[in-house]
Amino acid sequence: MDYQLRFPNGKLKALTFSYDDGTECDRRLVDLFDRYRLKGTFHLNTGKFGTSNPFEDYILADEVEELYEGHEVSCHSFDHPFFSHLTKQQMLTQLLDDKKALEDLCHYPVRGMSYPFGEFFREMIDVAQAVGLEYSRTVEDTMNFNLPTDFMRWHPTCHHNKAFSLLDDFQSTPEWRGLSLFYIWGHSFEFERENTWDMIEELCKRLGDRQDIWYATNIEIKDYLCAARGLISSADGSMLYNPYAQTVYLDVKGELKTIAAGESLQLK
Ligand SMILES: [Zn+2]
Repeated sequence: MDYQLRFPNGKLKALTFSYDDGTECDRRLVDLFDRYRLKGTFHLNTGKFGTSNPFEDYILADEVEELYEGHEVSCHSFDHPFFSHLTKQQMLTQLLDDKKALEDLCHYPVRGMSYPFGEFFREMIDVAQAVGLEYSRTVEDTMNFNLPTDFMRWHPTCHHNKAFSLLDDFQSTPEWRGLSLFYIWGHSFEFERENTWDMIEELCKRLGDRQDIWYATNIEIKDYLCAARGLISSADGSMLYNPYAQTVYLDVKGELKTIAAGESLQLK
């Protein structure tokens, strides 16, 4: 290979957060993310907005657009059932209703998802793809920084409670390894329930506002990787063409190069 991929602006590391259920604790978490210039994706159940149960209070529909501005809003089903209990038609309604309601509130196509209760299986993935969802996060921690290879089974690096144990590894990842993605997931209500707001603030402080990390939402990571992997090479490898809508960054023999949308690059 005559080049190595880089994240935007030539970075080698990327960080993304992924939080489920849309409870009122998201307000405090978004505030923390914003303070440390971090980006997250919030997977929401529109059927729960404005409701409460003995454990959680959910956010209101009319605060969604403003609350999550600068982050990504994504599906998590209409009201969080076990999909293994549903007919295929019910699965479809759960995902389509959630996606439509979120799009009405956010005014952009909602393209991602995380699996309620972590359940995923072939039929469910088929339905999610049929309604236009392009990725979905599992709860199967990889404990590594490898890039996702199957976006409908996007395994995160780890739950936030395990993230501290990986901080040093992330920091000291050797350059020869190329791109590293740290993907942290959880629920903001856990910080309230377990009294761990200090822990997540410390994590945000240690990972945030750094020049060597690209902070991105889940869909931004997916879009960038699709563009980077979708570069078209000439038969002799001397030329690359970028048919996608965004700039791709490469290291060519120690030099940072870019290929803008619709442009080509001569490598030799
Ligand atoms: Zn959930």
